[in-house]
Amino acid sequence: MRQSQLFTKTRKETPADETAKNAQLLIRGGFVHKEMAGVYSMLPLGYRVTEKIIAIIKQEMDAIGGIQMKTSALQTKEVWEKTNRWDDDVVDNWFKTTLKNGTELGLSFTNEEAYSNIVKNFVSSYKDLPLYPYDFKTIFRNEIRSKSGLMRGREFYWKALYSFSTDEAQHNVFYENIKAAYSRIFARVGLGAQTYVTFASGGTFSKYSHEFQTISDAGEDTIYVSKEKGIAVNQEVYTDEVLAELGLDKSELVEQKAIEVGNIFSLGSKFSAPFELTYKNSEGIENPVYMGSYGIGVTRLMGTVVETLSDDKGIVWPESVAPFKVHLLALGDAGKVAAEEIYRTFTAQGIEVLFDDRDGVTAGAKFADADLLGMPWRVVLSDRSLAAGGAEVKARTAENAEIVPLDQLLTSLSTT
Ligand code: ATP
Ligand code: MG
Repeated sequence: MRQSQLFTKTRKETPADETAKNAQLLIRGGFVHKEMAGVYSMLPLGYRVTEKIIAIIKQEMDAIGGIQMKTSALQTKEVWEKTNRWDDDVVDNWFKTTLKNGTELGLSFTNEEAYSNIVKNFVSSYKDLPLYPYDFKTIFRNEIRSKSGLMRGREFYWKALYSFSTDEAQHNVFYENIKAAYSRIFARVGLGAQTYVTFASGGTFSKYSHEFQTISDAGEDTIYVSKEKGIAVNQEVYTDEVLAELGLDKSELVEQKAIEVGNIFSLGSKFSAPFELTYKNSEGIENPVYMGSYGIGVTRLMGTVVETLSDDKGIVWPESVAPFKVHLLALGDAGKVAAEEIYRTFTAQGIEVLFDDRDGVTAGAKFADADLLGMPWRVVLSDRSLAAGGAEVKARTAENAEIVPLDQLLTSLSTT
């Protein structure tokens, strides 16, 4: 894409009403537009990031048997009354609305009820199970505070998968599969080293649930990390009894702030029984379906990548989620001619390039934009680089650039 055609512009000033680094950088870079606290529109660059994150999650969910669908955002009161979650005293972050005829509706803040209510129409026998439907969806939560930028939205985007199994044993197999898939997802978006499987409270049907927590001072959660064992315990469940059970000793645990980027939960019959979501086993006996729920905040994950990996110059996108792999900068007339050629070649080869072809923008401003926008590779074509024998290539995370001859540029950047 040509930067001259990208209608968004970067800005130098930090938005005064944002305290979270992720939102500050994403707004300055023109990735998102702040509609109000906790509500952000995705601009072209930001949209590309969410699409990359979604593609990774989708691939991993499909690989373990996930079936993608799409549930509605508007939901009837009756569905939520079945589990006693319509009441504002029970759920305090509802957004509700009313039809012209007075019928009350809710904007989904989560999705267990919606799934049980759908799936019960299609499941009657053990032969119909297990089942792993999921969707990507806009979720609405009237959060009291929304000071963490994209990490705590009032309107946000997530992936949620719900598992429907015959019994705990069948459920447990999938639970371990998806736990591994989650670890792969966080590694693939570049957060593998900072993200810990964290034991949290589990509810009625299992002792523990598992959160995926990314270490960050900007996190709202407190966890206790065993680096050596690669696991952590949430402060809420940090008791002597829990530590003993997990074979952890206080001396090996370090207290850290962290961001919950995902969580997985065994639900048992909590959401199936109220909907009479049952199946007949091989002896014809009726049993409740055993459920689990598995969420990942897509927009929170985007905010977490920015929060965790950026430096003092701007964002540092891992290649897997970067809007473009290469930021191509044309400086001066000869540089522009050479860059046009490189842009054509790279684009034809399917390499994603943001081409800073803007006239009348200083070299300094172009370099500052490249640092702020954070594409993994910066390629500069200028009189100076051409005189030195080619293009000046620099990884966003590297200190120094190196000269790569133009006829080797494609190979050199295709193989990174
Ligand atoms: P938290 O404890 O941070 O409020 P939660 O436990 O209520 O989150 P879930 O209901 O389990 O979150 O939602 C699943 C996932 O959705 C979370 O792991 C997180 O990644 C994401 N998420 C939850 N709330 C928000 C929010 N307000 N903004 C963005 N993402 C969110
Ligand atoms: Mg939580």
